[in-house]
Amino acid sequence: MKPQKSKILSNTPPLTRRDALKLLGSGALVVAAVPFSGCATSHVSRSPSKSVTSIEPFPLSQVRLLDGPFLEAQKRDEAYLLKLEPDRMLHNFRVNAGLQPKAPVYGGWESVRTWADIRAHGHTLGHYLTAASLMYASTGHDEMKRRVDYIIAELKECQVAGKTGLVCAFPDNSAQIDNLVAGRRAVGVPWYTLHKIFAGLRDAYLYCGNKIALEILVKLSDWAGDVTKGMTDDQFQRMLGIEHGGMNEVLADVYAITKDERHLALAEQFCHKAVLTPLSEGRDTLNGLHSNTQIPKFVGFERLHQVTGKPQYHAASEFFWKTVTEKRSFATGGNGDNEHFFPTTDFARHLSSAKTMETCCSHNMLRLTRLLFAENPTAAYGDYYERTLFNTILGSQDPDTGMMTYFQSTRPGYLKLFCTPFDSFWCCTGTGIENHAKYGDSIYFRGRLGGAQEDSLFVNLFIASTLNWKEKGITLRQTTAFPEVGKTRLEITAGSNKKFALHIRHPEWAATASVRVNGRTAESSTHPGSYIVLDRRWAKGDVVEIDMPMTLRVELLPGATDSAAVLYGPIVLVGALGHEVKPGDDLHVNERTIGSVFNESIEVPTFTGRLGDIPAKIKPTGAPLTFKSDGIGKPNDVTLAPYYRMAHQRYNMYWKIADA
Ligand SMILES: [Zn+2]
Repeated sequence: MKPQKSKILSNTPPLTRRDALKLLGSGALVVAAVPFSGCATSHVSRSPSKSVTSIEPFPLSQVRLLDGPFLEAQKRDEAYLLKLEPDRMLHNFRVNAGLQPKAPVYGGWESVRTWADIRAHGHTLGHYLTAASLMYASTGHDEMKRRVDYIIAELKECQVAGKTGLVCAFPDNSAQIDNLVAGRRAVGVPWYTLHKIFAGLRDAYLYCGNKIALEILVKLSDWAGDVTKGMTDDQFQRMLGIEHGGMNEVLADVYAITKDERHLALAEQFCHKAVLTPLSEGRDTLNGLHSNTQIPKFVGFERLHQVTGKPQYHAASEFFWKTVTEKRSFATGGNGDNEHFFPTTDFARHLSSAKTMETCCSHNMLRLTRLLFAENPTAAYGDYYERTLFNTILGSQDPDTGMMTYFQSTRPGYLKLFCTPFDSFWCCTGTGIENHAKYGDSIYFRGRLGGAQEDSLFVNLFIASTLNWKEKGITLRQTTAFPEVGKTRLEITAGSNKKFALHIRHPEWAATASVRVNGRTAESSTHPGSYIVLDRRWAKGDVVEIDMPMTLRVELLPGATDSAAVLYGPIVLVGALGHEVKPGDDLHVNERTIGSVFNESIEVPTFTGRLGDIPAKIKPTGAPLTFKSDGIGKPNDVTLAPYYRMAHQRYNMYWKIADA
């Protein structure tokens, strides 16, 4: 029987901005039933959650980074994106379609024997499409769009020549998908890899407006429906025992565009009940599971909740987020050891691993966090987002080469290893190029709380940037040296007499926060982990200054009483232990050998004293975010500096504390 094809392309209406945001998975579609009972004056809001109608981040194109560490990271990422050659990433796509490749294939996970059994060939092209699309939205640089358009035109040629709708770079074309569908043993994680291509096509459409990308995506989705249509639910669920990325999420996105019920049905078929059921019932069955296989499933559940309103999906995602962030994360916000969740009582045993905290896991946890925030804008999501972004994501990039981490090691005295530019192409290289292209996507949100007449503006992150709130005629400039100082400044730089409530996150790490408007104290809060709300008319020249005193503190390793990390505000400080390597010498081809290289033994000091006394024994050195232990280090005191800045030398994150 000839497979039925979607007919949406001819009658897809043009995308409105609000549609685009919804499609980006950020608009909460569910209207909560409980009316908003808050007052409209200045106040501290602890839980706006039950009253929310719709919250969404601003489009990346309306936010621009200003000078600071995030803009620097974005620039390094852009430079790397420009070094990668589309024709090399396209090599195997053309081969599979019977076309002559135009340039040699890249190495690492893209082609080399060591990794062939992952079947990750072509994943980089998918990530690249996403990263370049995000970078275009973040910068407006035409070269990014030009590259996206070129790759899409090439993929179209491949799809037409390949005839089935599938576009892929697997060396055996569809063989492993065929095996999975037939219930035979399969090599690697082909659906995981295909998900990256689906997502890249989606992002080329959403951020660059490339309509051919949508056409290819719909045909690819139809192909996925065709090849799996004979499967029973049981057979499908067995197939989902193999890592399959965010197939449920991206198919929900496709459905949101096409409104074709078959795409929604397929998205729901891609929901793995072995984790959906228990987590939706509040049962944590994550021990021993591969973390980065699970996280994208929950991103997809939350996205499906937005699309379908089914409560089970949200219950699962919300519970998953809570258990991972509250019970399964290290101080930086990262999770897992050797890519797996471990029993929450076993942190101490895993601390010596060099393979803790896969960077992809943080990337995907942040994607989940912003979706959940859109559903329920409570400060806890902003707090986790900040902690994980400032530590694991900013800290994942080599400040010299722009290359990115795979594991972020908690092993005392280890160092960060980064990918090579052309011979690694890890999963974390793929999510890595996306990470630094979208820092503007979660600084500001807007939405109308139930009962409110106007959209509110949420300032969730303290990152130097401008916001162009076009619809309101407001532009806002945030200038800050945070996290070097616990202050930020917002100035309305255009707009007159506009009424809206400004929600400023009072972070969980600051005991107090105070706000001045045009030089006069307007509000102060003693409720960390809440929002300070300023509801008034705003005009050009209005200045809001926020003070959030940062303090040093220690945070115990989960389940331990004698091992703690040192934080200053949300910033994890690590001991700078020296033993430098030259920039470039810590670029590493093979992620599997992380932990079995650079293994010379390094002395790591311990701290002595009562746990509660430690912060007072750590003194500022005068250099930004740099401290030194004072008489508690054994055998010697140590300099403590931000984990995010640490590169090319040995460090220590958790301190053994004697007499604790
Ligand atoms: Zn990874």
